[in-house]
Amino acid sequence: DPRIEAIKARIQDFPDFPKPGILFRDIFPLFQHPSLCHDVVNVFYEHFVSKYPSTKVDAVLGLDARGFLFAPLLAEKFRANFVAVRKKGKLPGKVVSCDYTLEYGSAEVEIQNHAVSDGQNVIIVDDLLATGGTMNAACLLAKKLKLNIIQCQCVIALTGLNGEKKLPAGIDFYSIVQYE
Ligand code: IMP
Repeated sequence: DPRIEAIKARIQDFPDFPKPGILFRDIFPLFQHPSLCHDVVNVFYEHFVSKYPSTKVDAVLGLDARGFLFAPLLAEKFRANFVAVRKKGKLPGKVVSCDYTLEYGSAEVEIQNHAVSDGQNVIIVDDLLATGGTMNAACLLAKKLKLNIIQCQCVIALTGLNGEKKLPAGIDFYSIVQYE
């Protein structure tokens, strides 16, 4: 797919960011080519529809912060809701939370209760899967809320970190671009 080649060509590598030894993959250059962010969303959409042709998507959950760049656009294609999965303390009203451990320490993600309802079919979207800790936390949160996770989608997967294995058993994961 030439769109995937074009997306990959615009992802920029930053060695030693945010810390020495980390190779940061940056998706922001895609947004200097507006047709490419459109392509990302279309590739996500077409992949999903070809795999699940008769599944109605009720909501697309986007992960704080770069999942928010793609999830509302994807939700609009499905005529579905966009729901933010945010870091702790950012969302007003009643929220459901889920803790998760990071390499150093822990964090918490939250969803507003009223934004979702039991049994809805959802897709969870982020820019990148590394160790899988963040996406796993979002999955656990969705399960707590009795949502039906059809697929998790990321622009990039760092396959060498085995993040997919960290996701709950049976979760379907799709990435557009992979790096070892
Ligand atoms: P994980 O929880 O280890 O899978 O890390 C994934 C989360 O950290 C995602 O929300 C990403 O936005 C962010 N992240 C980790 N590494 C990178 C990177 O190289 N580029 C962009 N985001 C990253």
